[in-house]
Amino acid sequence: MKIILLGAPGAGKGTVAKRLTALDGSVQISTGDILRGAVQAGTELGKEAKGFMDRGDLVPDSLIMGIMEGRLQEADCKNGFLLDGFPRTIPQAEALKALLTKLGIKLDMVVDIEVPRDVILDRLCTRRTCENSQCQAIYNVKSMPPKVEGICDKCGSKIIQRADETEAAISHRLDTYNEKTAPLVGFYRTEGIMKTVTGTSSDAVVEAIKSELGM
Ligand code: AMP
Repeated sequence: MKIILLGAPGAGKGTVAKRLTALDGSVQISTGDILRGAVQAGTELGKEAKGFMDRGDLVPDSLIMGIMEGRLQEADCKNGFLLDGFPRTIPQAEALKALLTKLGIKLDMVVDIEVPRDVILDRLCTRRTCENSQCQAIYNVKSMPPKVEGICDKCGSKIIQRADETEAAISHRLDTYNEKTAPLVGFYRTEGIMKTVTGTSSDAVVEAIKSELGM
């Protein structure tokens, strides 16, 4: 499948993407994960992106498109992909449209995952992430704690609260989402491939997407 997942930070895009990849071998492409990996590795990209990310601001479109042009042409994208956290601005959506046309790729669907703001705030304040950039497994201190406190079940690395998941940064990220990313719903509605799913359960979102795709 070739899908874009829209939705505010904390809407569950990553969880939904991971479940969908298990269905048909499509890959999850999270620009946030790629950027955090670059920050941790100390690459030029990471150095340029870090300040924006820590403040909860968007990284410039040109950096993001540089990443995605290469990533979408890697061999593992042949089976399909789930774009998680990209595009996030109208210029990114327009650049993606041109890139997909150039590569001869047609999207199946764009899914907007709608979750109430209070649920999102609570989820993000209690979310913890594995600090290992190769893993980045997600936990939640309330609903999904690791087996051993502070340690990732999957790789044994430390679990941390992301720098952009303080209350102030989260609130700023949500405002940025409403201002810059929410308009993409209108953009993709005019393209005729938009599907909105309302709900707080990732299972329900996965089922809705499967049924839409006839799976
Ligand atoms: P995420 O994990 O998707 O919430 O992304 C974390 C941070 O990475 C965001 O707050 C932005 O600073 C940056 N980022 C991720 N994806 C994008 C994108 N498509 N455009 C601009 N900035 C991005």
